[in-house]
Amino acid sequence: MKYIGAHVSAAGGVENAVKNAVEIGADGFALFTKNQRQWFAKPLSEESVKKFKEYMKMHGFTPDAVLPHDSYLINLGHPEEEKREKSLNSFIDEARRVEALGLKYLNFHPGSHLKKIDEEECLDLISESINKAIKETDSCIFVIETTAGQGSNLGYKFEQLAHIIDKITDKERIGVCIDTAHIFAAGYDIRTKEAYEQTMKKFDETVGFKYLKGMHINDSKAKFASRVDRHHSLGKGEIGIDAFKFIMQDKRIDNIPLVLETIEPEIWADEIKLLRSFDV
Ligand SMILES: [Zn+2]
Ligand SMILES: [Zn+2]
Repeated sequence: MKYIGAHVSAAGGVENAVKNAVEIGADGFALFTKNQRQWFAKPLSEESVKKFKEYMKMHGFTPDAVLPHDSYLINLGHPEEEKREKSLNSFIDEARRVEALGLKYLNFHPGSHLKKIDEEECLDLISESINKAIKETDSCIFVIETTAGQGSNLGYKFEQLAHIIDKITDKERIGVCIDTAHIFAAGYDIRTKEAYEQTMKKFDETVGFKYLKGMHINDSKAKFASRVDRHHSLGKGEIGIDAFKFIMQDKRIDNIPLVLETIEPEIWADEIKLLRSFDV
């Protein structure tokens, strides 16, 4: 089973994310548990948490079908200690929100070196931050997202994810999320069956499918290997529709959330149906 859905709005309360997912016929979803452009937010209300759990149950969503995303402000590899500390505190808060909601995962972008330290040093800082977050929380699995490598963002090579994972003390608490638009822009081709298999083989050898906890299903406005992060609707971008058939028919990708972050929310319901039609 593949949990297909989208990154839905949680405006007005996290419980609304469940309703929004139901509305587009999703069987999984992603959400922000707070405003993604703010460092901190007031704790989730008891009422909100209760309703969220109720709606999840009512509509048959399981925790492993939901992939919460953290704030865009967080940089776990920030070269300056004070700012890294602020990021870590915000990150821990996000993980606790996830746990309060009875969810399993927290999806995040690894971090940026801001051209002030070298890549390896930054990757080590990211691992160190994650290890601290693991200690400060109970059960949340931290899911590193592959990036396009725009600017000084790390995570655009599978080796970089492997480097981070290697230094994590508790491997049960770490996972990865492949974003199709990001890996494509980072130079991993998935447009033909041959290219797809080669990219996934490389992923398996370098990181390992056992760490794959979710995927972001996006076409790309940006060209192959451009290192530019611009999502597009399925089949309308540079990747093309075939890649999404390969994903839907790949048994290694079962039982995880497959989340659309495509640019036309009004066609998410159709995109979900389309993806499901490929799963034969
Ligand atoms: Zn992301
Ligand atoms: Zn993404």
